[in-house]
Amino acid sequence: DLEALLGRYQPPPAVRPPANPDKPRVLVEEIVRALRDDEFQPFFQPKVELATGRIIGFEAMARWYRDGQGLIAPDVFIPLMEGHGLIDGLTRSMLRKSAASLQTWQAGGAGFSISVNISVRSLAHVQFADELSAVVNEVGLEPRYVTLEVTESATVTSELGYVLENLSRLRLKGFGLSLDDYGTGYSSMQQLTRIAFTELKIDQSFVRNASKNASRLAILHSSFETAQRMKIVSVAEGVETIDDWMLLRGLGCDLGQGYFIARPMPAAEVMPWCRQWNDNLPNLLQAIAPPS
Ligand code: C2E
Ligand code: MG
Ligand code: MG
Ligand code: MG
Repeated sequence: DLEALLGRYQPPPAVRPPANPDKPRVLVEEIVRALRDDEFQPFFQPKVELATGRIIGFEAMARWYRDGQGLIAPDVFIPLMEGHGLIDGLTRSMLRKSAASLQTWQAGGAGFSISVNISVRSLAHVQFADELSAVVNEVGLEPRYVTLEVTESATVTSELGYVLENLSRLRLKGFGLSLDDYGTGYSSMQQLTRIAFTELKIDQSFVRNASKNASRLAILHSSFETAQRMKIVSVAEGVETIDDWMLLRGLGCDLGQGYFIARPMPAAEVMPWCRQWNDNLPNLLQAIAPPS
């Protein structure tokens, strides 16, 4: 009855985790210097097909090698960059470096693609689509090997026209377009009707404990079905266990990404990791075989 239900009621956890006290404090001037000194590097995280384990691509995640302080994660510097007009420099540098790495891997026989995150802020300038394709052309890579992952933010609604125009021009040039963090905040269903996305990337918050949460399961299921009906690729972030993998595959998700497969790694580790993954694949496929 209602009283018993209310008695067991637990308030939902706070939306934002408390600020990490160990998070390094960064000043805008330091970011300007670091961009000039080229201290940002892509780390690469694999994206694999859940049905076969095949390596489909790698997503580039920005890391900052700050003097004497080790690696700094993007949540420390990206919001500052976005707020101070510095994000375009990072986007270009990340795209150039990832495209160059992919060129080397392809020359060594790799058949996969790369994904690069781009801030919607950057897409608010008219000429950005041309700038991005110039970067990829310079390296000599075909745009069809590059997927741009976009998370909509609330801040660009005044330049929405430019954002939409840039995205459709990039799509026409052959880039893949991924709607990142689908299901959260402003990465909404409406975007799927406005832009010719090629990939729907469900946010990792829906994957966490999904097997014990009927609402998350329902949202995962309908998101993968939406992607399938739209004939676009579905991807799940946050695949942390073999059970996550099997659950997502069963729900019709095409690709997975997460710590169970690999954490983001430096470029030099990518080809050795691929060899090791492929060597180990028969064992993995056996472990995740559907019961016969
Ligand atoms: P995202 O694009 O949604 O990337 C997923 C984040 O989840 C990454 O964090 C990744 O390292 C982390 N992750 C991957 N697998 C797992 C897992 O199994 N469990 C858990 N708990 N986490 C996992 P990261 O690298 O800290 O990046 C955070 C966000 O920063 C990214 O979210 C992306 O929105 C943004 N970002 C990263 N690099 C760039 C960049 O070059 N440009 C822009 N504009 N944004 C970037
Ligand atoms: Mg992403
Ligand atoms: Mg994401
Ligand atoms: Mg995310």
